[in-house]
Amino acid sequence: MAEPQRKGELVPEDVGTDDCLTSYTHIYSPDLLKDQVAFITGGGSGIGLRIAEILMRHGCETVIASRNLDKLKEAAKKLSTVTGRRCLPLCIDVRQPESISAAVDETLRELGRIDILINNAAGNFLCPATSLSFNAFKTVMEIDTMGTFNTSKVVYEKWFQNHGGNIVNISATLGYKGQALQVHAGSAKAANDAMTKHLAVEWGPSGVRVNTVAPGPISGTEGFRRLGGPRGEAAGAFQSIPLQRAGNKTEMAHSVLFLASRASSYVTGAILVADGGSWLTSANDVSMLLGFWSAEKKRDK
Ligand code: NAP
Repeated sequence: MAEPQRKGELVPEDVGTDDCLTSYTHIYSPDLLKDQVAFITGGGSGIGLRIAEILMRHGCETVIASRNLDKLKEAAKKLSTVTGRRCLPLCIDVRQPESISAAVDETLRELGRIDILINNAAGNFLCPATSLSFNAFKTVMEIDTMGTFNTSKVVYEKWFQNHGGNIVNISATLGYKGQALQVHAGSAKAANDAMTKHLAVEWGPSGVRVNTVAPGPISGTEGFRRLGGPRGEAAGAFQSIPLQRAGNKTEMAHSVLFLASRASSYVTGAILVADGGSWLTSANDVSMLLGFWSAEKKRDK
């Protein structure tokens, strides 16, 4: 009889900083994405950086694209050193279609093709609706929602329309229960979840699949730090999650790898919730979060 599985045995390797893994055990064939090219927005930090690393460890070349070119160059160097694959750092602001257009042209000139687009760039912070400025709400909508549309449209028109491809959007579960202090990001990601289905319907006939990964709380990320993850972890808040822990960046990258590869060849318009069951059971406590928010604000002053 097989040994019973020990708790935690299946959690893949990760490191908490924006560095590459010190060791990695393949689950899929290392050749799964051989000769493919992935364009990853926000690929210079957090979940996006780990997505770039895992795709590269499966044979892919990548473009990592966001606003801070110095950060991207440093990340690209680390990624190429560890994986032996090319990684092109390109400066874009997903709110500006011309900057995306120029980066996609350069990708096609340098790497010759695009097979995978990961829409990962986003901005987030905790803020009650009454304290949220009109501009702050608009900015999050512009980065998360318009940014996803802008990048998808540019890549589709310049390449996917005639060659097919895979889009994976990175969403969140915030809108499922109306998470307190997150009306901006929750609304933006809900719009993106609808966009996943609309674009899957319209672009499927061109051989384009469009899917989404919706992470829960993911350790070692800016999002986790800003949204009170470390403090929640210390206070035992994750005990209420069915899997009783935060997720890690490698786990998110593995979900993306599934949707971005031929492992999911008949899947489109799907939203893969990768949150350890968190949204089903975790608290949505306005006063507790307001307390955390005001303490953080005081500390910032
Ligand atoms: P992160 O490290 O802050 O990643 C966000 C990235 O987006 C950064 O690399 C940033 O780079 C880029 N970005 C921001 N504004 C941009 C713009 N206008 N144009 C182009 N790039 C821009 O945060 P993360 O926590 O890893 O989050 C990654 C994704 O996972 C996000 O979509 C987030 O909503 C989602 N998510 C995260 C968690 C979590 O627990 N961390 C949970 C649920 C969902 P620059 O500053 O260089 O532009």
